[in-house]
Amino acid sequence: MTTHPAFTRLRSILLESHALSSASALLSWDQETMMPERGIDARAQVMAQLAGLAHERFVRAETAAALEALERAGSDLDDDVQAIVRETRRDYDRATKVDKELVTALAEAQSLGQDAWQRARAAADFRAFAPALTRLIDLKQAYAHAVNPDVEALDVLLDDHEAEMSTAVLDTLFAALKARLVPLVESITSSGVVVDTSPLRRPLALETQLAFARTVTSAMGFSSDAGRVDGSAHPFCIGIHPGDVRLTWRGQVDDLRPALFGLMHEAGHGLYEQGLPDAWVGTPLGSAVSLGIHESQSRLWENMIGRSRSFWVAFLPRLQASAPGVYDDVDVDAITRAANEVRPSLIRVEADELTYNLHVAIRFEIERDLFRGRLAVDALPQAWDDAYEALLGVRPQDAAQGVLQDVHWSMGAFGYFPTYTLGNLYAAQFLEQARADLPDLDGMVERGELLPLREWLRERIHRHGRKYPPRELVKRVTGREPHSEPFLRYLEAKLLPIYLR
Ligand code: ZN
Repeated sequence: MTTHPAFTRLRSILLESHALSSASALLSWDQETMMPERGIDARAQVMAQLAGLAHERFVRAETAAALEALERAGSDLDDDVQAIVRETRRDYDRATKVDKELVTALAEAQSLGQDAWQRARAAADFRAFAPALTRLIDLKQAYAHAVNPDVEALDVLLDDHEAEMSTAVLDTLFAALKARLVPLVESITSSGVVVDTSPLRRPLALETQLAFARTVTSAMGFSSDAGRVDGSAHPFCIGIHPGDVRLTWRGQVDDLRPALFGLMHEAGHGLYEQGLPDAWVGTPLGSAVSLGIHESQSRLWENMIGRSRSFWVAFLPRLQASAPGVYDDVDVDAITRAANEVRPSLIRVEADELTYNLHVAIRFEIERDLFRGRLAVDALPQAWDDAYEALLGVRPQDAAQGVLQDVHWSMGAFGYFPTYTLGNLYAAQFLEQARADLPDLDGMVERGELLPLREWLRERIHRHGRKYPPRELVKRVTGREPHSEPFLRYLEAKLLPIYLR
């Protein structure tokens, strides 16, 4: 490890600002799990103060001076330190290039946007949201221009969530996905096959569901002395430190899917957080690289493992043992089919693994056209409904089921949706590579041995933090740029036998 004096200074600045954000993270976990209702206003103020302080501690002249000194030292530094300098520079430029006036205007527009969106959605009235949305798009255009005037605005917004991702790359990925997924959805819906989901929809006490889901997450290697599981309305994962990772879950008495797949999903995020390098806590190398890579970890465990036949070979007997009598008539094939129902629907968060990506494609193309000025805000509901009809064969009855269903745009989170699909693509690409490196992977899963896969992910992905940008990481792990072929192969291999053979 280097002892460059400027690095010592940089590190202490980063640690100060990290201490504040880490306290905020814990407060926001508390808000979602423990806090009494009337604490909300006071908590919001404390968190705004802490965020302001963390920002202030970071955007000091000393940070710039330390960065410049280290940039001059360049390749004399070891590569972990070079990566920390590169990533801190990226964060610093983003935090300082946008003037205070614009930051304030955005914060205000986001809070008004969420308020307008909630009311508009309740009334299914898009026109009530249109002015707030127009304002948010204008401000985000200005923000993108301030950060980087040389590329198209959506590229800057994408890059906020997934470094170095661009509209051009996504155009290619989504075109390839649509070309294969749309016909696949059509043949599934016209096959006449109806998947029986009743094996997973049986009355079962929530404690029993949680206990079973926790046997799965401990088999995955989620360590309970470095994490906790609590209840919340919307499941999430917050990493305070690799030694303190908080997951939440939510159950439904007559359906095992939300508890089981929801907790496997969050535990996938949690394993990533537990696997980040201790030594670099507080620096960019101590944090996850991008939303897309994070999502690849959760979806790999939830969908590619949790909904696989191999998984149920190992875990159906355990489920039967944990709930005597409830699953006696269920076999491995029936429960695997039940976990893989495909049904085109209007609502993204309820979508299956296949059609989910078409929901995302629609949102990406709309964002692209809005930011290129090719689609007017007023024309948005019509464009949305037409896209749903064309890609999924369903048409919303009203704006609440259509263009107003997601919170993201009301918060100014443009360029965020694609990271969900990138997560699916990366996950399939990683899993193909894991199979090549661990030839008996499916056998291991059938025996309930999930640790070798966690070790593989930890070694190749988790322990690097932000050392490599996401595209480079994918290339290092799999030998190829991110592409859609492994995901398409994976879906076809799983779904064709259920629906079309
Ligand atoms: Zn997730």
